[in-house]
Amino acid sequence: MMTPPTGPRSEPPALDILPPCPRLLIVDDQPINIQALYQAFQDDHEVFMATSGEQALDFCRRDPPDLILLDVMMPGMDGLEVCRRLKADSATADIPVIFVTAQEDPADETRALEAGGVDFIIKPINRAVVRARVRTHLTLKAQADLLRSLAFIDGLTGVANRRRFDESLHVEWRHCRRGAIPLTLIMIDIDHFKHYNDLYGHQAGDACLQKVAAAIRAGLGRSHDLVARYGGEEFVCLLPDCAPQGAARKAAALRQAVAALDMPHESSATAAQVTISVGAATCIPDANTNPDQLLAAADAALYAAKTGGRNRVCETVLGKLAH
Ligand code: GH3
Ligand code: MG
Ligand code: MG
Repeated sequence: MMTPPTGPRSEPPALDILPPCPRLLIVDDQPINIQALYQAFQDDHEVFMATSGEQALDFCRRDPPDLILLDVMMPGMDGLEVCRRLKADSATADIPVIFVTAQEDPADETRALEAGGVDFIIKPINRAVVRARVRTHLTLKAQADLLRSLAFIDGLTGVANRRRFDESLHVEWRHCRRGAIPLTLIMIDIDHFKHYNDLYGHQAGDACLQKVAAAIRAGLGRSHDLVARYGGEEFVCLLPDCAPQGAARKAAALRQAVAALDMPHESSATAAQVTISVGAATCIPDANTNPDQLLAAADAALYAAKTGGRNRVCETVLGKLAH
């Protein structure tokens, strides 16, 4: 039976996930209106200003702010159109837009919300109200960002998860195909990991997975390289613009990096330490190959590394590179 709470009930601490100095863009053709909003936010926000729709769009494409306060009525492109264009571009679609307007007609309000605005504030503004609403929408945005990022991260190791890898594979495949540049996929599997768990326990196994993941991540140099946990004790790396020679070097370096962790594995038939087997596959994506073939080729190379004695690297190339 649950014990009833004693003493005053305490609220859980609020999770403050707001950036310390959120970046706001204020868009209004009237400097006096910009001035009023600027004064409301200048102390604890980084405030940028634009006096036309075109200027606002330019700014957002170059350097997306955390939130936009957008005037509806402006000469040239009006606020509704600015908002529609922001929402149509994936680079700017997630920026919350609050409309600030002199109109107080429900039909106008509806149009603003339909254009993609999250809220609607009437001029002349009240400092406390506008600050509270901005804070609310910044918090909602930060929470949504956090949730989205958590949905793509492996909880145990902190590297990308399988879902993120599947998406990245298709994105990088298209990117490399457009540029006719090589794409390398590296599959990694820890050797005799079942025995490791059996001897050292599941918790030690988890800690081992974390260390191996960190070593692989540290071993991938470039910002576009991705490591993901593919399943159980398997990891996969995606390296755009990495040709066969580079792939072989990288795969060998990853194998070496894990061996260098020097984690004792006394029940391994392969070595005294934890080791990995590695399969690398490289292709230049084109109309005759697809991502599944690259994945299957890396998997086959990994299998060859396992049957060839483990703690080793096998490489393969496919498509044009194979001829
Ligand atoms: P091989 O050298 O052929 O790869 O042998 P292996 O024992 O590593 O391969 P096998 O596929 O037989 O076993 C994988 C083991 O990985 C079994 C499973 O208990 C363990 N494992 C999978 N996920 C986790 C995890 O999240 N934590 C821990 N501790 N162990 C895991
Ligand atoms: Mg396995
Ligand atoms: Mg294994």
